This record gives sequence, structure tokens and C-alpha cells, in this order.
Amino acid sequence: MARINEHYRNLQAGYLFPEIGRRVGAFAQAHPDAAIIRLGIGDVTLPLARAVVDALHAAVDEMARPETFRGYGPENGYDFLLDAIREHDYGARGVEVSADEIFVSDGSKQDSGNIQEIFGSDCSLLVTDPVYPVYVDTNVMAGRAGAADDSGRHAGITYLPANEANAFTPGPPDERVDLAYLCSPNNPTGAAMDRKTLTAWVDWARAHDAVILFDAAYDAFIRDPELPRSIYEVEGARECAIEMRSFSKRAGFTGVRCAYTVVPAACTGTTASGERVPLRDLWARRHTTRFNGVPYIIQRAAAAVFSPEGRKQTAEQVAFYMENARRIREGLGAAGFTVFAGEHAPYIWMRTPDGLGSWEFFYRLLAEAHVVGTPGSGFGPSGEGFFRISAFNSRENVDEAIGRIRGAFGS
Ligand SMILES: *Cc1c(COP(=O)(O)O)cnc(C)c1O
Repeated sequence: MARINEHYRNLQAGYLFPEIGRRVGAFAQAHPDAAIIRLGIGDVTLPLARAVVDALHAAVDEMARPETFRGYGPENGYDFLLDAIREHDYGARGVEVSADEIFVSDGSKQDSGNIQEIFGSDCSLLVTDPVYPVYVDTNVMAGRAGAADDSGRHAGITYLPANEANAFTPGPPDERVDLAYLCSPNNPTGAAMDRKTLTAWVDWARAHDAVILFDAAYDAFIRDPELPRSIYEVEGARECAIEMRSFSKRAGFTGVRCAYTVVPAACTGTTASGERVPLRDLWARRHTTRFNGVPYIIQRAAAAVFSPEGRKQTAEQVAFYMENARRIREGLGAAGFTVFAGEHAPYIWMRTPDGLGSWEFFYRLLAEAHVVGTPGSGFGPSGEGFFRISAFNSRENVDEAIGRIRGAFGS
């Protein structure tokens, strides 16, 4: 008899986005003439930049010739990509990261879900609430959290509410916790942490011997040069933080798949007997055991993001989405909605009108404006009464959606 992993039974409903997909699918079937605009899931819409496509083509041609064909590559990534990451994502911001601290992977969703594997099953953990669902669900699957209560909070997880009072960027708690997941700029709230808040987190982690799991999937969307893009811009972070970054949002790689995780050599955990062990070595062991590397052609495409043309073209893509975000923020704000963020992230976080619940507003928006967004409550209990609108779409669809929302709900 193959017993299942009972921890899976502590998970709530379906994963949020398939669930939204099902509900939208049912509506579309019942209303075949409705021209639905999807501002729900955070997926890019622009095609790959020219520089990326050219690099892909060239790499495919290399694979077609015996003298340049490649099989398995280094599990942690090719030097050409590691060097480009070190120079452009870190060196340019005054941060030193060495090649053996970088682990190239096929996605930050996987990395942020898998990283918990190198920690003890009795580690306590903290998330900000609302939160990217992957952090919570993967820890529930691993048995680090119990069943959810009526409000949706799992036993064994500390939830730090992100709300208007703390500008959706809560500082560290008073208590000690072993693992803290932070995401900045944040999905779903769109809020970006300033240096002072991030410094408070790093100081807290060092004082409590905690590890911060920092998801920087949206760093490229930060417009203010004063805001930190990497947690390693804060002194002491190398001793207490693991950082995850992705090419998905910054360069349209959601369907291409490339990301990386940085585990600094100085970042340690402890054994049962109190011995300090570098987390980097554990992650290297896990990565090389379970993963055979990102395809050569994909790593060439990722490296092209850092070429002069690639940097320029992907910056234009980001700017295009951020203009969408500005239109949504200002368009809905002018219509009387209470909107937040969207200045350093491709997401607008809004309060639902008329005190509607998040799912209630989801249904009304779908029925009355044929626009799909994401219910804030799907990201955690503190998201109730809020709604996420994504700026990933064409200009026409964004403008049309703003007009429809104003028509259906605006003042
Ligand atoms: C989109 C996203 C990612 C990126 O995931 P990939 O697997 O690299 O596509 C990671 N974290 C957050 C919070 C995201 O929204």
C-alpha cells in the first residue's frame, strides 16, 4: 500500500492561478461573446528581445555542428553566464559575489520552493502576508506547517501583515524565527522595501541567527536608484541571506525558463550539535544531485540579456510595462479607487470598492467589465478586501480595461 504524503492534505484549495483559470474558463463558456481581458496571472506579454532571439539562434546552430555541440554542462551554470551575472547584477551595484556562490536554475518558482529542503523540518518560519503562495505551500508539503484555520493561516507559520499602516513593507517581528521569506519588490502588493527596512531585517536576522530567503524576481522594475535591488547591498547580508532572481519578468523568460540563486559562502546553518555548516555547500549538493543544468542555448539567451543591446532592449520592455502600471494606477486612482504601489513593480494593489470581498469583486469585475484580476485573499488572509491588477498586457488592453472598470465601478 503506497501511503501518500499526508502533509499534502494540509494544503488549501487548488493553487491560486489554476483556480482562477477554471473560474474564468467557466465564465467564458457561459458567455462566448465576452471579450475577456486578463490582468490576472503575472505573465509577460511582449515577445523576446531581438538580442535574446539572436543569441538563441546562434546557440542552436552551435548545437548543430560536431565541433561546437555540447551535452551536459556544469550543473551550476556556464562561466559566461556566471561572469555576466557577477558583473552586471552585482558588480555594477558594488556587490561582490563569486562564481561558486551562484546557482543557475530553470526558475525562481522552483528555487523558492526547493530551498526549504536544506533546512531542518523543525525550523520555524515567517512570511509576510499576503505572499507569493509558493513559499507557504512548499513548507506545508514538507510538513513544516500544519492545517489552516478558518482565516487561512497554517499552524506553525508566523504571518506578518503587510498593510497600509506599514506601507505594505512590514519590518521584522520581535520574536525569533529560523527562516523568513521576503520578496521585494513584492508580489502581490507591488511594494518595494527601502534601505532602512531591509537593513532592519538584516540586523534582525543576524541578531537572531535567522536566514532570510530573499526573492528579487522584480528587481529590474525598481525605478528609484536609491532603493536596494539586492539584499547584499545591505551590510551583513552575506552572513544571513539567500537571494533568488529570475530572467522571467525582467526579460520575458517565463516560457524560456532561466533564473539563479545566490548562496554566499558566509551564510551558515547549524547542526544538531551546534556546528556551523555553510548553506552554500548543502545547496550545491542538492542542486548537483537533483538537477543537470539549464540548457546551453537558454544560458546563451540569458547571457544576451546582459549584452549592450540586450540591456537596452529589455530595459525598454520593462519601461513599457511600467507605463502600463502608471496608467492603471492613475486611471483607477482618478476614478476614485484606492490604489497602491505600481511604481517599482508591475502590479497595482487596490482596495476593493464598496467593501466587497476579494472574490466577490473578482466575480463582479469579470461579469460586469469582463476583466480578470487576482483576488488579494488568494495570497493570504491579510489580502482580503484587496485585489491585484497586473500591468503585463498590451497598451490597448490595459487602456480598454481601465475604461471598462471605471464604467462599471468608478465614480
Ligand atoms: C514570477 C515570480 C517568480 C519567477 O518565477 P520563475 O519560475 O523564475 O518564472 C518568482 N517569485 C515571484 C514572487 C514571482 O512573482
